Amino acid sequence: MASAPASPVRVRFCPSPTGNPHVGLVRTALFNWAYARHHGGTFVFRIEDTDAARDSEESYRQLLDSMRWLGFDWDEGPEIGGPHAPYRQSQRMDLYKDVADKLLDAGRAYHCYCSQEELDGRREAARAAGRPSGYDGHCRDLGTEQVERYKAQGRTPIVRFRMPDKTITFNDLVRGELSFTPENVPDYGIVRANGAPLYTLVNPVDDALMEITHVLRGEDLLSSTPRQIALYEALIELGVAHRVPDFGHLPYVMGEGNKKLSKRDPQASLNLYRERGFLPEGLLNYLSLLGWSLSAEQDVFSAREMVAAFEIGDVNPNPARFDLKKCEAINADHIRLLEVKDFTERCRPWLAAPFAPWASEDFDEARWQAIAPHAQTRLKVLSEITDNVDFLFLPQPVHDEASWAKAMKEGSDALLRTAREKLESADWDSPESLKEAVLAAGETHGLKLGKAQAPVRVAVTGRTVGLPLFESLQVLGKDASLSRVDAALAKLTEG
Ligand code: GLU
Ligand code: ZN
Repeated sequence: MASAPASPVRVRFCPSPTGNPHVGLVRTALFNWAYARHHGGTFVFRIEDTDAARDSEESYRQLLDSMRWLGFDWDEGPEIGGPHAPYRQSQRMDLYKDVADKLLDAGRAYHCYCSQEELDGRREAARAAGRPSGYDGHCRDLGTEQVERYKAQGRTPIVRFRMPDKTITFNDLVRGELSFTPENVPDYGIVRANGAPLYTLVNPVDDALMEITHVLRGEDLLSSTPRQIALYEALIELGVAHRVPDFGHLPYVMGEGNKKLSKRDPQASLNLYRERGFLPEGLLNYLSLLGWSLSAEQDVFSAREMVAAFEIGDVNPNPARFDLKKCEAINADHIRLLEVKDFTERCRPWLAAPFAPWASEDFDEARWQAIAPHAQTRLKVLSEITDNVDFLFLPQPVHDEASWAKAMKEGSDALLRTAREKLESADWDSPESLKEAVLAAGETHGLKLGKAQAPVRVAVTGRTVGLPLFESLQVLGKDASLSRVDAALAKLTEG
């Protein structure tokens, strides 16, 4: 249990708009958001789009759309602005140039003229000699003559940050105390030769300018933390920053075969979850379990419950395993928790083109309203609704040959004939009465209910599995149901 932070919490979520958003990114957003909301702090949303070659406007749009879909609200950021606007780094270039110049003037950064070949060559040599292979400080203290010579050769320098020659220790909010010795953290580039500032500069500069108090991000970024802490210390000396934020690194997410889930993994793509009809609340609930838990007894909960309980100190540093089955199970629970009316509305996208195989004019609202409560308790994801209700809107049930072969056995025609007779005189307002009719038909032929209802189900819905049969019959109605039984009988007699 961590104690409350001393100053108002300001956290940030700062993705780069490259490619589709992935679940690892969403987990990072969620933990930051929950931490901010738990402490009544500020959730800053910033777009790190300084890499013109990789960033795209389309991906930026997608990010915003995904954040809205997931239900996140942010206190400062794109579309709403805030005291530190703009929140897109591509619109803040002058600020970074200014800070880089200050660092150069103060000697905290320097121009490095080394060519890539020279760097590679010296790295290889260091490796061969068993010395640390990071940047060797070659240009730290170049004389003016040497600089002139490099310039005369037409070299354009990058800007490199000068790491202090000391061990950097910090208390990670998730992993406890961590130390990095100087040979493991060499001087590093902060501005490219063409003048473009790098992530290594713009990320901590913005965290400083935006007064971020807690940096919560993935473990893959752990190695940049000692560099950033040193940069912060320099920024404090220059009056640009006021404090070094606290850092907490969220555990890796492991995918199939216990390999790190990569953003290129199809399983990682947020769009996939949207298209399959995960509820945002179900997905967020599951993602919160990747490194955190509400309690040992309760793994289904709302975002509100998470916010009430979330403490960064409770996050488990061990790698978390992404388990799609569990994700679906939790989503199914959230589907069941919806108000029926809400459920019927949220299914709409999958009841229309391009998902639905029926013509839009064949969709029948009354039937949908009647069947929805029976579907709600059976779906893992909303997209499953289409196959479950298509028999209500297609003129004929789908022809699933495997189901037909499985259900239509020797004697199925006799059974269907008896069932038809009993159903004819049943009470179609009562699923119970329809059940009794099929039960009685089964008895006549020495079949239990399960065996007796299979041919009826396939005749009417086209499939061996689906929603509760007698409610399905009732919703489809007597005429349509019996005519489908007749069609099946005709097919059996022909075949
Ligand atoms: N833009 C960086 C990324 O997407 C942010 C890393 C950070 O949180 O510091 O990886
Ligand atoms: Zn150099």
